[in-house]
Amino acid sequence: MALFFPVPEWNKQSYKEGMRQFGWSRNGGKRFHAGCDIYAPLKSPVIAIADGVVVENAFFYLGTNQISVRHDGIGVVRYGEIVDIPKKFAIGSPVVAGELVGKIGHLTGIKVHPMLHFELFDGSETGSLSLTGKQAESKYKNVKQQSYRRRADLMNAADLLDRLYLQGEK
Ligand SMILES: [Zn+2]
Repeated sequence: MALFFPVPEWNKQSYKEGMRQFGWSRNGGKRFHAGCDIYAPLKSPVIAIADGVVVENAFFYLGTNQISVRHDGIGVVRYGEIVDIPKKFAIGSPVVAGELVGKIGHLTGIKVHPMLHFELFDGSETGSLSLTGKQAESKYKNVKQQSYRRRADLMNAADLLDRLYLQGEK
């Protein structure tokens, strides 16, 4: 099965540096970063890393959207902080490896580089990928885990991105 780095023109390993990495503290430690950030110029194409099926397609954060795709054998990937998601992607729609799923967006109102915010879930849980603060509190005892505000099967996406990065290196 062919696999692709999600922002092919920006295939760099910087998603493990500084605040781009998984688990980095946000809002002075109130929240932890649930994904890995891949910085790229605004409107750079974002592509599906593998074949899959759409499980969410929704508003995400500060004027950006997200599409989440179940990739069998990999897990559920959330492609976040993007714009221009093709209209054809409804929940249950098939996605083909390498297909355009959106373009790099930028968060309105805060000064950060445009990026793809890339999250990975292992697929062992069901339901919404994001939790509110209250939902997270009722689900977890561990404060750090509450602070991700994500479903319990959230993983650090860096190992997967490393695999995709090496694959993209031709
Ligand atoms: Zn992020």
